[in-house]
Amino acid sequence: MGAATQNAKPYANSKATSRFATVRVLVFSTILLILGGITVVSLAIPRAMQDAALEAALQGNLEIINQVKLMRGYYTQNVVARALQTNTLKPSMNHHGKSDEIPLPATLVKDLSALMAKRDTNLSLVSPYPWPHRADRKMDEFETEAWSAFQVDPDMVFTRHEFKNGQRVLRVAVADRLTTKTCVDCHNTDPLSVKRDWVLGDVRAVFEATRVIDTYFASADRRSRMIIIALIIGAVLSIAVLLFFTILIERRTRAKEKADEQAYFLAEHDGLTGLTNRAHLCASMDLAFQDINAPQPAALMLIDLDKFKQVNDNFGHGAGDITLIEAAKRMRDFAGPNDLLARLGGDEFAILCMDSASAKAMHTLGEQLCARMAEPIEANGARFTIGASIGIARFREDGGNTTDLLLAADLALYSAKGNGRGKACLFNPEMNAAVLHRRALEADMLGALARDEFILHYQPIVSLRTGQIIKIEALLRWNHPVRGMISPAEFIPIAEDNGLIVPIGAWVARTATKAATTIDPSITVAINLSPVQIGHDTLLGMLEDALEFSGLPAHRLEVEITESLMMQNDGKTLSRLEGVRKLGIKTSLDDFGTGYSCLSYLQNYPVNCVKIDRSFVQQLGQTESSRSIIRAIIALANALDMDTVAEGVETELQLKELHKLGCGNVQGYLLGRPKPIEALGLIVQQAA
Ligand code: C2E
Ligand code: CA
Ligand code: CA
Repeated sequence: MGAATQNAKPYANSKATSRFATVRVLVFSTILLILGGITVVSLAIPRAMQDAALEAALQGNLEIINQVKLMRGYYTQNVVARALQTNTLKPSMNHHGKSDEIPLPATLVKDLSALMAKRDTNLSLVSPYPWPHRADRKMDEFETEAWSAFQVDPDMVFTRHEFKNGQRVLRVAVADRLTTKTCVDCHNTDPLSVKRDWVLGDVRAVFEATRVIDTYFASADRRSRMIIIALIIGAVLSIAVLLFFTILIERRTRAKEKADEQAYFLAEHDGLTGLTNRAHLCASMDLAFQDINAPQPAALMLIDLDKFKQVNDNFGHGAGDITLIEAAKRMRDFAGPNDLLARLGGDEFAILCMDSASAKAMHTLGEQLCARMAEPIEANGARFTIGASIGIARFREDGGNTTDLLLAADLALYSAKGNGRGKACLFNPEMNAAVLHRRALEADMLGALARDEFILHYQPIVSLRTGQIIKIEALLRWNHPVRGMISPAEFIPIAEDNGLIVPIGAWVARTATKAATTIDPSITVAINLSPVQIGHDTLLGMLEDALEFSGLPAHRLEVEITESLMMQNDGKTLSRLEGVRKLGIKTSLDDFGTGYSCLSYLQNYPVNCVKIDRSFVQQLGQTESSRSIIRAIIALANALDMDTVAEGVETELQLKELHKLGCGNVQGYLLGRPKPIEALGLIVQQAA
């Protein structure tokens, strides 16, 4: 794990982005298609328009030829034929200025051509068999080819466009056939005729109409340009409209998605810490369980803050909020970039760990997070510590669906709390049984006080200087009607969780002080106070009540508190302990050396005695470091004018060592096990 980012909406953004990418590709392709189409059409249009212009010109030329042919036919039959019959007028190829001559049909064509030349149109009749006056008129290449083609297919139209004198001209040629008997006779009989074996239908000449078609092409080009411009304008408008609507739709979609995302964020997140909430966590787990292709988590960590309620009670809800925010920040710093963090409600959090790791590694991570969470927090000018208990369940291995996985992590968390909090616990199937057991104990505990099932055993604390018992420590036991004697280590954490420690603790105080009134008045009685009791407003009243109830002088009562309490360093704890001191009750610091042992706290608190934890005592003679630690604790206690008690003394060797180290008092099985008050042999008077 390393620096973390919070996954707000893991997949939605990428989906939207890919949808927009698809739309953009589509729009881009459409624009390319439009531009490509325009280019192709723009290239094709001038050609098509020119082809159309040529076709129109061709039809125009043909029309002229046909009209002239019609005219010539009419002229031949109605003028030339009659002139020949009546011998009034003579058809001549040179009729100009002669009143008795009229033009031959071919001369008519020639004359018309001369007239039409002014209108850029030329008509010509050429033949390999020319009349003598046109013998100099040679057929050019086009006409020769046309002549040859007409020999094969007299009905075809022979055409070509070319440049002549810098102008584009269209030449259209058709076969000029002998269609009337008059013509055939004329050609076969006329002395000037070059060929005399003509028959009806023969191709006599190439009839050609040549016209300048620059105007056709110019108007075709003009039309092409206009069409292309219109197409470009249309395309530009279409693209603009397409882009406009794409941008508009994209903007609207984005705005809607943003609004949806915000609504989603608010619905799926915790407003205070910004972490996702239970619903989102469960949805992510459901998805991972249902879809093997979705990111697969490695484990689920359930994190429960310890002592959060005290923060709220002691420093107010503002400090509580700051604590939650700080806790979330620490988790975020701790989690991996892909992990999903959630606040499940109250002081319960979860991390869905995405990076796979072994169970052992997961546990180590959990322990590291616990250590981080136990570091002091500052809020509203106060400095205090909370802590966290963590339950870890591995994805699929410990639960095959969201409900089972949550349950497994919850059981592991339950176990972490039951084992003294501030720990990480991995789920194991035996926890089911352990939890059932714990829940049963919890249910039984509710009526245990009323049923008088609790008893106190007392363990002597002996002065090493005099060898006398100077103190006895009251240790609670639960004499369960079915389960037998239950250890406080097992049921006190449960009582602390459900709050029953308060009435049970009050019973302990009353019972222990009462018992103390029956023994030698030089002996003090010590009772253990849990941090929950110290945080409770009833503490001082409860102690006063016990003293009043038992009649024990306050100086014969001592309360044992744990070192972790000192770490909180908050004004409320300090003033409570001052209150205890003012009542005349002594205070000792239990299990010293196991917590943070921040020795500077010792001077600030009104503590009379330091109890050296039994873990150091039991290593005496085995490790040099334990001796050094004990020596240091004793030196410190002496310097602060505090008494010392070494706990858990079991061997003579330990006793000897402690003696040598200058320890004041000792407690342990060697000196006496915890026993009922009567069994201690200290009773001097019966209880009233
Ligand atoms: P503690 O206050 O540290 O009490 C000493 C524990 O060490 C006792 O366990 C005692 O039986 C055990 N002990 C004493 N001498 C030796 C020894 O030589 N060797 C070994 N191995 N153990 C020894 P016990 O009675 O099971 O109590 C466990 C813890 O439960 C206590 O630890 C104390 O923290 C808590 N406790 C007991 N009674 C009360 C109570 O009335 N109120 C509260 N709040 N906590 C209590
Ligand atoms: Ca104790
Ligand atoms: Ca102890």
